[in-house]
Amino acid sequence: MHIIVVNAGSSSVKFTCFGPTAGSIMATGTVERIGRNGTLLHFKAAGREFIEKQVNIENTAEAVAILSRHLVDPQTGCLNSLEEVHAVGHRVVHGGEKLNQPMVVDAAVKEIIREYFDLAPLHNPPNLEGIEAAEAAFPKAIQVGIFDTAFHNTIPAHAFMYALPLNLYREDKIRRYGFHGISHQNVSRAASEFLGHAPEELNLITCHLGNGCSITAVRGGRSLDTSMGFTPLEGLVMGTRCGDLDPAIALYLMEHKGLTLSQVGDLLNKKSGLLGLSGGKLSDLRDIVDAMEQGDDRARNALDVFCYRIKKYIGAYMAAMGGVDAIVFTAGIGENSPLIREKALSGLRRLGITVDHDRNQARSSKPREISAPDSPVKVLVVPTREEREIAGQVMAVLEAGSSKMRKSLTNAPFIL
Ligand code: ADP
Repeated sequence: MHIIVVNAGSSSVKFTCFGPTAGSIMATGTVERIGRNGTLLHFKAAGREFIEKQVNIENTAEAVAILSRHLVDPQTGCLNSLEEVHAVGHRVVHGGEKLNQPMVVDAAVKEIIREYFDLAPLHNPPNLEGIEAAEAAFPKAIQVGIFDTAFHNTIPAHAFMYALPLNLYREDKIRRYGFHGISHQNVSRAASEFLGHAPEELNLITCHLGNGCSITAVRGGRSLDTSMGFTPLEGLVMGTRCGDLDPAIALYLMEHKGLTLSQVGDLLNKKSGLLGLSGGKLSDLRDIVDAMEQGDDRARNALDVFCYRIKKYIGAYMAAMGGVDAIVFTAGIGENSPLIREKALSGLRRLGITVDHDRNQARSSKPREISAPDSPVKVLVVPTREEREIAGQVMAVLEAGSSKMRKSLTNAPFIL
């Protein structure tokens, strides 16, 4: 049985083919810069040459089609026929309250993904295009949706409600949803395995620090609270996103600076975060660290703000859970920056958290511990494996049977 994982974004498609033995990756491919100049295809199947070429691709459907052709091409691929693909798992960013677990995608599920276009305008439309492209490319395969919001479906009302008029929740679905759920779920499970405990026995704080950043309190294997909210703008400081903000600032910008709605949206999403703080030129953490090392005070301040926000959330989530067993770092920054890990956790000895300087410097692609041996709270670095997580959840859907997975659709309630 082969499973394909498709991650269709606004201008790229990532594609992974998993083989019949648990978790073996048989091929990976990407198409980037779709619909722009210089669309680039990468493809690598086990035992075959790595391929990189410019292609003429206008949309997601064409991207999925070309990647599928490479999969069965005798020169480049590893399958004899696309019929060997049993299921395709799709990352879908917003599943709202209704698509709250992995689900076989049929017309009703697609309609709900469409219903949430307004809540995730940059993500859900290309995600749905990816599904429809895969239906065309793999007509015999089962399509399964894996939702980035679903892991956070266990967050209780006192943590997901905003203190706004109740009808905004009931009628407009305004609440905390949380994102990066596939990653938080994957690393929290991997961290439990690493620590040799069942997930049910542990309180964890998982820090997903990439271009987008979020942090989750995971109690007993379930999300209890998370920093991203109604949209992926809330919470931590990110590459170009501001994270937490006094909402009056947006009103002020419109009233006193004459900014339009879309200019404010642009400013908060694309011109803020590390980019804004460092003076508008740098959003990549490595560049900011380089600038700081050359004496740039704005870069230093950007890193201070970035790390302080992480520290504040860690304190909040320790209180929310009544203590924590381990703090887990993942994604581009979390996995690769000893500086950020050490800075975010500095001065927390009295909360039971001490990072070991040497362990923190060590590099590895495997889960590892970086806390001091006598630190009551463990600190771990756990590489996120989102594609594997999706493939694993697809397997679970296939094993459980689709009817069971459809149940929650019919009785998705308003919680309040
Ligand atoms: P995305 O959210 O786009 O998936 P990633 O998880 O790839 O992002 O993370 C991108 C961030 O990780 C960038 O800020 C980049 O600077 C940072 N990063 C990647 N590698 C390193 C490294 N070796 N050292 C420090 N930061 C790194």
